[in-house]
Amino acid sequence: MVRFVIIGGGPAGVQAATHAARLGAHVTLVEKDILGGAANLWDCVPSKAMIATGDLITQQARSRGMGLRSEGVVPDLGEIRERIESITNRLARSNTGLLDSQGVRVLRGVGHLTGPNSVRVETDEGETVDLEADSILLATGSRPRIPDWAEVDGDRILITRQAYPPKVVPEHLIVIGSGVTGVEFVHMFRCFGSKVSLVVSRQQVLPLKDPEVAAALETDFLSSGVKLYKGAKAVSLERTDDGVVVTCDDGRTINGSHVLLAIGSIPNSDFLNLSAAGVRTDKGGYIPVNHHCVSNVQHIYAAGDLSGKLPLASVASTQGRKIAEHAMGLDSLEHRHLDYDKAASAIFTEPEIADVGLAEADAFAMGRKIRVTKVPFAANPRALISGDPRGFVKVVSDPATGVVLGGSIVGRNASELISVIALAVTANLKVTDIYESLLVHPALAEALADAAD
Ligand SMILES: Cc1cc2nc3c(=O)[nH]c(=O)nc-3n(C[C@H](O)[C@H](O)[C@H](O)COP(=O)(O)OP(=O)(O)OC[C@H]3O[C@@H](n4cnc5c(N)ncnc54)[C@H](O)[C@@H]3O)c2cc1C
Repeated sequence: MVRFVIIGGGPAGVQAATHAARLGAHVTLVEKDILGGAANLWDCVPSKAMIATGDLITQQARSRGMGLRSEGVVPDLGEIRERIESITNRLARSNTGLLDSQGVRVLRGVGHLTGPNSVRVETDEGETVDLEADSILLATGSRPRIPDWAEVDGDRILITRQAYPPKVVPEHLIVIGSGVTGVEFVHMFRCFGSKVSLVVSRQQVLPLKDPEVAAALETDFLSSGVKLYKGAKAVSLERTDDGVVVTCDDGRTINGSHVLLAIGSIPNSDFLNLSAAGVRTDKGGYIPVNHHCVSNVQHIYAAGDLSGKLPLASVASTQGRKIAEHAMGLDSLEHRHLDYDKAASAIFTEPEIADVGLAEADAFAMGRKIRVTKVPFAANPRALISGDPRGFVKVVSDPATGVVLGGSIVGRNASELISVIALAVTANLKVTDIYESLLVHPALAEALADAAD
């Protein structure tokens, strides 16, 4: 029986463990905090739970346009914290049940390598357990990057993990970093009524996204009073008696009540004793892997954020599944390699933003011929009925074959609607496959069919 040891019980580790066990491996999963990982405890789940509450506040404000009078709502931070904890615990319990049902042995503690085929675990009970393995998966994730000029105090100078929720709703929050995490926190706190300033190191928020999509979000931010400091890199951070001052490299200073750092993450590879097994990392500390997620050591895999690929929970869990198949020798049968270029992703602002596959701007940069069709939600009956006709659907296809290559959606429920384009991109479906589907009316999805037409 294949002995498979996994360090890290986030989406990558849990998925690899359950799938490998189902395929017949003897699996031990080592986790030091909570099953479900940082995704469950610190990242995806709590951030989206906060945003869900924030969205209700803004929907309340919009209810006037729907023929209702509202007197406003007041957030209760204690109750919000309890709600997030209860969701996190519920998901952790469901992961425990899933792993139990597949016969996975879960060891609570901190794991590290002691050799190419051995792992040591310092358990929560203070014991040392040595494990032998035929295959090992390292899936220990990442943690927020803190620059050396910032002293995080959890009070006024925060990392994301301290904001679910913070002790008080910030009066004026300065968010440093305008990638996906940064803009989601801008949205979250503007909904809670904070004044928000965003330090944008380039000339566009979401520098890696389609410029038209980023522009739609910027317009929305500006219309709700968010202040953008473009082309500015924060270089220092000072705490004053009643707030914080951020200084930028162009000399501008921003005074606020709180600051939140959202400037990326660093991999949790430093405490794994990788040298004991000869596992190499790149300069950033990530473990480079091949298309099977194998590191430079043939039976040692790395997945999730630690692998330096797309830092998404969905990618991590799919990698975990593929690794389980490879470790069990099933990779040659029915095994489709993971294509990171086809990963759908979403940004949970309002309106939501989601995309998948080839972006229009990237196609132009490559000189690739594409057909782009775009439909605004303002022409969609359901969007008008629900009182939120912001945004658009854009479909990118091959003009010669009609095969769908990618798409972007800005608008309500974009994170759900993108699934249709993601399926089309993964399965090489054509635009006709989308617009000849008999969809529900009235539905936001009709905009997808219109854009594909
Ligand atoms: C604010 C924020 C919001 C995000 N929102 C989304 C989102 O909406 N959707 C999305 O797809 N992605 C989102 N992400 C990214 C997502 O959280 C990560 O890509 C995902 O968690 C990576 O999964 P993983 O399995 O690599 O590791 P993790 O989820 O980080 O889990 C790693 C686990 O390993 C454990 N561990 C670490 N070291 C050891 C050790 N030595 N021994 C034992 N256990 C150890 C940790 O305790 C942890 O439980 C978000 C990220 C951030 C920062």
